Amino acid sequence: MKEFICNSCGKKYDITPTLWKCECGGVFNIVKETPKIDIAAWGNYPNSLWRYVETMPFAKGSTTWESVTMGEGQSPLLVLDQMEPNTYVKVEYMMPTLSFKDRGAAVLMTKAKELGVSKVIADSSGNAGTAIAAYAARCHIACDIYLSDETSPNKTAQIKAHGATVKEIHGTREEIAAAAQQAVREENAFYASHVYNPYFYEGTKTYAYEIYEQLNGAPDTIMIPVGNGTLLLGAYYGFNELFENGFIDKMPKIVAIQAKNCSPLAEAFKAGKVSAQPIKNKGTVAEGIAIAAPARSEQILEAVRTTNGTFIEIEESEILNARAKLSEKGFYVEVTSAVNYAGYLKYVRTTEEKIVIPLCGAGIKSK
Ligand SMILES: *Cc1c(COP(=O)(O)O)cnc(C)c1O
Ligand SMILES: [Zn+2]
Repeated sequence: MKEFICNSCGKKYDITPTLWKCECGGVFNIVKETPKIDIAAWGNYPNSLWRYVETMPFAKGSTTWESVTMGEGQSPLLVLDQMEPNTYVKVEYMMPTLSFKDRGAAVLMTKAKELGVSKVIADSSGNAGTAIAAYAARCHIACDIYLSDETSPNKTAQIKAHGATVKEIHGTREEIAAAAQQAVREENAFYASHVYNPYFYEGTKTYAYEIYEQLNGAPDTIMIPVGNGTLLLGAYYGFNELFENGFIDKMPKIVAIQAKNCSPLAEAFKAGKVSAQPIKNKGTVAEGIAIAAPARSEQILEAVRTTNGTFIEIEESEILNARAKLSEKGFYVEVTSAVNYAGYLKYVRTTEEKIVIPLCGAGIKSK
C-alpha cells in the first residue's frame, strides 16, 4: 500500500479514495524511492506511455491500465524548421483528447479504478476536464467536471460527449476549484484533480522519458508553459529519474512561460521568493494557463531554479502572432499553446542549444 506525504509538514497518510490534501493545507507527494529504470523492459509494453509503467507507483505486474489506455503518449518529436535544426516541437495535441492532459488522466484514472471508486469530480479550465471525462468514461466511472461559464464551447462539448456532467460556474478559476472541492467533501467523492493528485504527475513525467528516447539523451533546454505546473513538474520528475539512474549527465534547463496578464510564478521567481503569492488575473486569451494561485508554486519554483532555468512572460499581442506563425509552419494549435512558441521567439538561445517546445493542445479546441 502506497502512502501520501505532505509537501509542507511531512505528515504521511495511507492513500484512500477521499484523501486529497493534508490537514495543514499542503499538497501531497507519493512516498516512494526513485524508480530503478530497466530500459530493456520498455519493449515489453505497447507503444504508448505505458512503456514506462514499471517506473510508476503501481503494484508490480498490475494490469489495470490495459483496460484504461487509449494509446496515449509517444507523441512525435520533430524539427520545427530546417533553418533551426536544434529546435524541436513535441506534438502533444496528437493524443486521444487532443492535449497532453491525457498523459496524466490515463494514469490518474487507472489509479482511481484500482481504488474502486464509482464517481470522480474535477475542475479545469478545459483540457484536464476533457481528459478526465474521457478516461472516466473508459473506466465506467461517473464524472462531474466544474468549469467556468466562459470556457471554450468546443471544450465543453467535448466533455459532455463523454457523458460527464458539466457544472458551469460563473467565477474565477479559484472559485471554480473551491466549488468542486466542496462537492468532493459533500459527496465523499474522488477528487480527480490534475493539480492535487500526484498520480497525474506520474503520467506527465513520461513526457521526459519519451524525449530521452527520441533524442537519445536529454535536450539542453525545455520550454514549458505553466499555469498549475502539471507538465512542468512531470517533465522535471521524469528527467530527474533519468538523471538519478545515470542515463543523462545533466538536467535540461527549464524555461517556464506564463502570460504576462496572469503570471504569479514569474513574479515570484523575479522577486526571489520560494512560493507565489496569489495575484489577480488581468485576463488573457491563454485560458489554459490563467492560474492566479497555483497550489504547487513552491515545487515549480524549485524545479526551475535547480535546473538553472528562467521564466518568460508573454504579452497578449504576442500570443496570437505566435499562433499564426506556427500555423504557417503547418501546426495548428489552440490559443493557449501559442504561448509556448511566443516564449521561444523571445528566448535568447545559443546556436548549438537543443530545445524542445511542446505543442500542448489542438487548434480546433479554441476559436
Ligand atoms: C494544461 C495546459 C497547459 C498548462 O498546464 P499546467 O498544468 O496548468 O501548467 C498549457 N497548455 C495547454 C493547452 C494545456 O491544456
Ligand atoms: Zn501537511
